[in-house]
Amino acid sequence: MAQTQEALIPTKDAFSRKAHVKSLEDYQRLYQRSIQQPEAFWSEMAEQLTWFHKPDAIMDLDAEQVDFSWFGGGKLNAAYNCIDRHATERPGKVAIIWAKNEPGEYESITYRDLQHHVGRVANVLKAHGVRKGDRVCIYLPMVPELAYTMLACARIGAVHSVVFAGFSSEALRERILDSGAKVLITANEGPRGPKFVPTKAIADEAVEGLSLVESILVVRRTGKEVPMLAGRDYWLDAEMAKHRGVCPAEWMDSEDPLFILYTSGSTGKPKGVLHTTGGYLVYAATTFRYVFDIQPEDVYFCAADLGWVTGHSYILYGPLMNGTTTVMFESTPTFPDAGRLWRVVDDLKATILYTAPTALRSLIKEGDAWVKKSSRQSLRLLGSVGEPINPEVWRWYHDVVGEGRCPVVDTWWQTETGGILIAPLPGATPTKPGSATLPFFGVEPVLVDDEGRVIEGNGVSGNLCLARSWPGQARTLYGHHQRFKETYYARFPNLYFTGDGCRRDEDGYYWITGRVDDVLNVSGHRLGTAEVESALVAHEAVAEAAVVGFPHDLKGTGVCAFVTVKPDWQESASEQMVGALKEQVRHVIGPIATPDRVVLVNGLPKTRSGKILRRMLRKIASGEVENLGDASTLADPSVLDELLAKATPPQ
Ligand code: ATP
Ligand code: MG
Repeated sequence: MAQTQEALIPTKDAFSRKAHVKSLEDYQRLYQRSIQQPEAFWSEMAEQLTWFHKPDAIMDLDAEQVDFSWFGGGKLNAAYNCIDRHATERPGKVAIIWAKNEPGEYESITYRDLQHHVGRVANVLKAHGVRKGDRVCIYLPMVPELAYTMLACARIGAVHSVVFAGFSSEALRERILDSGAKVLITANEGPRGPKFVPTKAIADEAVEGLSLVESILVVRRTGKEVPMLAGRDYWLDAEMAKHRGVCPAEWMDSEDPLFILYTSGSTGKPKGVLHTTGGYLVYAATTFRYVFDIQPEDVYFCAADLGWVTGHSYILYGPLMNGTTTVMFESTPTFPDAGRLWRVVDDLKATILYTAPTALRSLIKEGDAWVKKSSRQSLRLLGSVGEPINPEVWRWYHDVVGEGRCPVVDTWWQTETGGILIAPLPGATPTKPGSATLPFFGVEPVLVDDEGRVIEGNGVSGNLCLARSWPGQARTLYGHHQRFKETYYARFPNLYFTGDGCRRDEDGYYWITGRVDDVLNVSGHRLGTAEVESALVAHEAVAEAAVVGFPHDLKGTGVCAFVTVKPDWQESASEQMVGALKEQVRHVIGPIATPDRVVLVNGLPKTRSGKILRRMLRKIASGEVENLGDASTLADPSVLDELLAKATPPQ
């Protein structure tokens, strides 16, 4: 089987010297404490926040009802913790740097500015009837008002539900209805790369005939005129001008809801995950501080969108609670060219970059010259999130982007987990390309077989579960507690089931092998998709690969690989390429994994957050093309035409 024993890449001395956690021994000591004395550990971590009333209890867990409470009796406010404390101590420090869609255009917002803007928006929301506990749906591109409105909701105790501004009107409508939002916030339009997303027009369609939504607040991002319905639609800037920048923070109970956020929809219909205040904030602040080893002078650049949980925890809440300068990036990594991320890094002297494998793969495809012509000297740490990072891509990130100088942190987590659960601590944890390495403090990963038996020891694989609660865990799916119980707690009693498959190697390092729904059972052998895909991506011609199973007469399941090749290789004869790729997998993993079919395509179906949608590919490869499942999250439906034409098996 695949090589699991990768050489350990040691920590970098220059980094470790200044790090919060300086050695593996220090990590292990702290980890043991977090597991043996969780209450003492988390109570200490909670002290980094400002509480109006300190918690009376640390945790109260009802496994029977799947009802978890952290920091009970505590009262706090998320916006206060993100803004006011810093606005008082260092008002002139930059909180947010807005990197606009137009290359080279930036705006800085200090903690003092942020306080005023958020206060104004909070007063606008109140004037529009928003009260504690009400839901507000935010459908905005990456403009500063997105941060202001999220924090304004938090300030007055309203629950925000951010919907990524690439979603269709039907998808938005569904989310508005599911969360019962009474106010919708959007923009006249949203520039993104070379395009303009007509957000207001989409919002209008989404709320058509809905009496639920009483007001639509519209951010003026461009000069474009849009129809405004009298008595329902209001320009946000005009509304803000009517109000003061001072708005008292509502002191919330730890377990009061902070936000609802829908998952990416990789495995099915998106789920409306509910996070509460105290536990989520403590967890986001703690993980951000340690996993990114945050220092006061950092300029932190996460290239994700606030419409995903990565944006919530690690563009907004985590960084601002730590008083960090955080970048909001309105554009895409390839606009106007594949040098964009490096330009932002150089222009802003960013010290940390956090992005997704899908973005890295799209840049590798364009060649190293784009990276090499930038300086990147300011960078000291690189992070990855969203999908398993192929070892080949990891090495490129480490060697080419980071010039071997910057540690790479591959962070495994989910919308439901609120924050990072498995990741190295840079400075402490030696890494291995492709492994998320070791659990964060207080996190106890458990591997179980399909019958629910715990698999002990190292050098084993199974279903990845979590044995105990952690503060940042989701409390429910909004309005659907039964679905919450069934999705996460029914399959393996008393364990949180992640839906991911995982291997724990001989060193106790964790490797995510893909979704368990996607596992291939070939002649009785279980293969994770990530392993086979990484073998393909290691071939010099391959840009991206997605592997799925299909019914096979002899083997039970056949292996079908969908592959995109790099631009320079597109002319190569496809017959030969297919043969070479089959050979590649045979050589790297073994004959059992050799794909029965390799389909060369121009694009793969992805979620709007950039993840490969294998559930659709599986159906296509199996010839079940009548119903491809929930397509609301599919970023570019036009890729399906080519796939259907090329990949439907002969009948
Ligand atoms: P849905 O739950 O609707 O199917 P989703 O699981 O893609 O969608 P998210 O919560 O955005 O929604 O993604 C979490 C999932 O992303 C994880 O369960 C895992 O499969 C994958 N993932 C995230 N980070 C990593 C990582 N560093 N390594 C491997 N996989 C990762
Ligand atoms: Mg999921």
